[in-house]
Amino acid sequence: MKIVGIIGGMSCESSKHYYERINSIINSKLGDLNTAEIIMYSVNFQDIEPYMRRNDWDTIEKKLCDIAKKLESIGADIIIIATNTIHKLADKIQSSINIPILHIADCVSNECLKQNVRKVGLLGTKYTMTEDFFKNRLTQNGLSVSIPQNEEDIMEIDRIIFKELCIGNIESSSKEYYINVINNMVKDFGIEGVILGCTEIEMLIHAQDLKIPIFDTTKAHINSTVNYILENI
Ligand code: GLU
Repeated sequence: MKIVGIIGGMSCESSKHYYERINSIINSKLGDLNTAEIIMYSVNFQDIEPYMRRNDWDTIEKKLCDIAKKLESIGADIIIIATNTIHKLADKIQSSINIPILHIADCVSNECLKQNVRKVGLLGTKYTMTEDFFKNRLTQNGLSVSIPQNEEDIMEIDRIIFKELCIGNIESSSKEYYINVINNMVKDFGIEGVILGCTEIEMLIHAQDLKIPIFDTTKAHINSTVNYILENI
């Protein structure tokens, strides 16, 4: 079986779902005592997040390239970066190793295209929503992407991710806030679906909360990882 190297801990609240669900889906497909072969390097997010705030991406790049190289050196066949935001560095991390990175934006784009949804809203950290690295990848994959237009909404969505979801805190007021922002995007931009472009948002928003389909990056990433394992047995 191929060995999956996961760069996790950003946050550990979502990384634990990767570990649990990849194993449980593999077991449901292969039966007996089968599970996935996983090497997870879970960082201390406190060693990473302050550099994001300071816009010191070079320091983060160095740390994560070192980790990717370690995972490769101990046998990983593929790398999964279990956060959308850190995909800002995906190309740089990729060029430091000789094994592929399974890009989270490609995984979720495929899910949208399968359901013939092209006009999507994107929620995530302020980096993921406002910078080009993630939106461009979605656009290159054939999607048309809108983000909340109001600066206050962007900052509040970002705050809820880092101050609540990343430490496992689920608040009903935050859920309402997200639903309201998504409903406004349906009205303002006519989005046909919404991408949960942060690996913790699935803890807050579920399909039954909305009238449009959700495309959860965590789920898409996990399912693509499982497909990779099963296709390469
Ligand atoms: N897990 C989040 C994401 O998917 C946010 C935390 C981070 O910046 O890594 O973007």
